[in-house]
Amino acid sequence: MTFDSIRGQDRAVQTLRGALGRGRLAHALIFAGPPGVGKRSTALALATALFCKNEPGLGCGACEDCHLMETGGHPDLFVEDLARAREEKATATRLSIAQIRRARSQLSMRPVMGDKKVGLVDQAELLTTDAQNALLKTLEEPPGQTTLILVATNPDALLTTIRSRCQYLLFAPLERELVRELLVDEGFEADLAESAAALAEGSLDRARALAADGGLEYTAELRTKLARLPKATLPQVLDLAAELAAPRGEKGHAQQQLNRATVLDWCRDRVLEAAAGTEPAVGTEPDDHDRLDDVRRALRRVDRAYAINREFERNANSHLAWDRLLLDLRQSR
Ligand SMILES: [Zn+2]
Repeated sequence: MTFDSIRGQDRAVQTLRGALGRGRLAHALIFAGPPGVGKRSTALALATALFCKNEPGLGCGACEDCHLMETGGHPDLFVEDLARAREEKATATRLSIAQIRRARSQLSMRPVMGDKKVGLVDQAELLTTDAQNALLKTLEEPPGQTTLILVATNPDALLTTIRSRCQYLLFAPLERELVRELLVDEGFEADLAESAAALAEGSLDRARALAADGGLEYTAELRTKLARLPKATLPQVLDLAAELAAPRGEKGHAQQQLNRATVLDWCRDRVLEAAAGTEPAVGTEPDDHDRLDDVRRALRRVDRAYAINREFERNANSHLAWDRLLLDLRQSR
């Protein structure tokens, strides 16, 4: 994993290469941006560039350090994420203080291969407050030649004191055409790749979830269910909430993001629909007043969907959040 293999994030990569070239890379960085746009890959490429002794600041792709990075076994890189949290507790939904303590103690040990250590905390928005406070200590007294990278889809969930100590790097959504290309490269059919890329809003993760295992059909079905919400019974609404909250094995996280994105999209479409209104019958005036009311209602729904999306990033209990969102959508008139 070198900078050359990162697609669609030229600006972020240039910034990092520039900082490395001038010896001005911060000790702690936040990579912020939507899911599935290459934040974690770029963090790994940065670690490669730091470790590589053949082409320092770049990564040669051939030396022992680069090889170990490629196989995921570099002894001077430490990764903490939700997957690791779940190795200890299968139902974990947050990154724990124990994980941050472990990262801290590992970073304080002497490097094995050279003189540098890199710590990567992925899904940092899921850190508990205790874990964030522990992290703050590491940021205040960075041990030796270490670089700490926090990857986050929602950096607002991090303490201000953490954010102020890190260099910020923003990752933009990927171009639709690039997402399509990457899906085709991964072996998806051209038509499927095209449709999935169109709905993915620049996220490769989301595009993959859409393209794989009938994701497009699933999304269409979900939209139909949402359209029927105002007429659904209470048990039907709660059933749908349970279905949306249920983690689906390995893909649980991607599926959750897809569900949330689909609901947000659907709410946004209602705004456009309300704004367009229906054509008035021949000989009658359009009722602007009613139309404005419809737009306001639709905007309120988007607002709620956004608010609950932010809540999902922080709240462990996604089932409860889904209940509330769907009940809201059912009765928001
Ligand atoms: Zn190398």
